[in-house]
Amino acid sequence: MDRNESVKILQENTGYWDIIVIGGGATGLGVAVDAASRGYKTLLLEQHDFAKATSSRSTKLVHGGVRYLQQGDVSLVIEALHERGLLIQNAPHLVSNQAFVVPNYEWWNGPFYGVGLKVYDLLAGKLGLGPSKILSREETLNQIPTLEPQGLRGGVIYYDGQFDDSRLAINLAQTIVDLGGTPINYMKVTGLLKSKDLIDGVVATDMESGENYEINARVVINATGIFADSIIHMDQENTPQLVKPAQGVHIVLDKKFLPGDSAIMVPHTDDGRVLFAVPWHDKVIVGTTDTPMNNAVLEPHPLKEEIDFILRHAAKYMSHDPSPGDVLSIFAGLRPLVNSPDTKNTSKISRSHHLQISESGLVTIAGGKWTTYRKMAEDTINQAAIVAGLNESDCTTDNLRIHGWLKNVDRSDHLYVYGSDIVNIRNIIKEQPNLDTPLDERLPYLKAEVIWAARNEMARTVEDVLSRRTRALLLDARASIDMAPEVAELMASVLGKDKKWQSDQVNQYKKLAEGYLLT
Ligand SMILES: Cc1cc2nc3c(=O)[nH]c(=O)nc-3n(C[C@H](O)[C@H](O)[C@H](O)COP(=O)(O)OP(=O)(O)OC[C@H]3O[C@@H](n4cnc5c(N)ncnc54)[C@H](O)[C@@H]3O)c2cc1C
Repeated sequence: MDRNESVKILQENTGYWDIIVIGGGATGLGVAVDAASRGYKTLLLEQHDFAKATSSRSTKLVHGGVRYLQQGDVSLVIEALHERGLLIQNAPHLVSNQAFVVPNYEWWNGPFYGVGLKVYDLLAGKLGLGPSKILSREETLNQIPTLEPQGLRGGVIYYDGQFDDSRLAINLAQTIVDLGGTPINYMKVTGLLKSKDLIDGVVATDMESGENYEINARVVINATGIFADSIIHMDQENTPQLVKPAQGVHIVLDKKFLPGDSAIMVPHTDDGRVLFAVPWHDKVIVGTTDTPMNNAVLEPHPLKEEIDFILRHAAKYMSHDPSPGDVLSIFAGLRPLVNSPDTKNTSKISRSHHLQISESGLVTIAGGKWTTYRKMAEDTINQAAIVAGLNESDCTTDNLRIHGWLKNVDRSDHLYVYGSDIVNIRNIIKEQPNLDTPLDERLPYLKAEVIWAARNEMARTVEDVLSRRTRALLLDARASIDMAPEVAELMASVLGKDKKWQSDQVNQYKKLAEGYLLT
């Protein structure tokens, strides 16, 4: 996958694309994979990097959502559990089975969650990941030795999926290319083209070169998440707000706070929220919050009350209380929740997706979850193909292998996330053995990965490499700042950039990463 190649394809193609997708997060990438797999000529335009916005800031769970079961949203849970099963089959290198323990400090909670999780197992049917089980106090502490022992009565263990969100996004972009489609990052849509009141394309600006393009298509799909309204307003002014952002924050801690393989899930904190502490890439992610916000921004910032909430509750359930100085990184994301005028509390807004088609033919897909991105894409292309008058073609993504597909990867080697591409990284190392060196001793990432990302994964900036090709920014923000100069130098050797570019990149990255530090 090469950005220059994609831009060249765009420039050489003067006719109509079948489908233009705006937005390169989970939703847009999934939609473009579906479109390309049906043989439609597909272009995806992303204003920044793939997964820059919400899709790199999730809790990293491929899940049915025990919480939605609690809220009575059974059809969403059934759909998400089905999708969870498909994703494990289609991207086994990135999605794994994760055990969760629900600790029980109140005598009535044990049987309640025991029964609820049995229903969860049943709803998963054949695609279940393992039966849930009620645990004694001793068994609970065996699973999670650092759980707060005071007042603990027992627990329940159940299974869900876990994944690496931005790595899956990059693999989806590569899948689009494998299927003959064209994804381009750093290409912002600034307007819509219309002919006889019907949308027939977009105006886009290359954010690197500044060049503007008018690009025609039979149908345009708006998959811009929290930014959906900005595209809708290009079509029709004065429409009521469709998407309401709701912020969720996570902190990342050292593995010593949760040393085993099991995660902690607290379904109901004392103020009614869900809290997860999940092992991820040899660290622990703790979150999250649900704070209604007014503005859609690419780089959201955690609020003080969100940080206090997470630290206070982490201390409640972990025997070592984490302090601000223990936080390796803190990150915030904005959920694209579809607005319902009478819902004040965003945690009650449905997580199921919303598809709408405007009078001029703009197809907007919003809401949903990472877990259900494939189903959202299927529904979207079923409708979009009709709007565009394209030849009918069935969806086949339920068993489409995603780029990098590899079964039984060795998760003790951090390169496992590349799946079948591991061999290509090993080949880079064979050619240049000096690249087999970690960028920093606090994280496992090798110099060879930077070369691979710049050559083959459309990484264009130091942030692309440290935040979304590797996960250094989320795993240890301070270490990632120290890695930036070397990353810039390695990228410059691939992209043909000068010293000034390198120092600008390092300065920009440092400024960004400081927002991920707590102390
Ligand atoms: C805190 C948190 C935790 C979550 N945890 C989970 C979880 O564990 N499991 C799960 O299944 N789901 C989870 N989710 C939900 C999931 O992350 C989102 O539903 C999903 O990532 C939304 O993807 P999207 O593509 O719709 O939006 P985005 O990822 O925001 O993508 C939209 C893209 O459109 C681009 N764009 C906007 N305007 C333009 C333009 N004019 N031109 C070109 N491009 C444009 C943006 O740059 C952006 O990249 C979580 C969400 C949050 C916030």
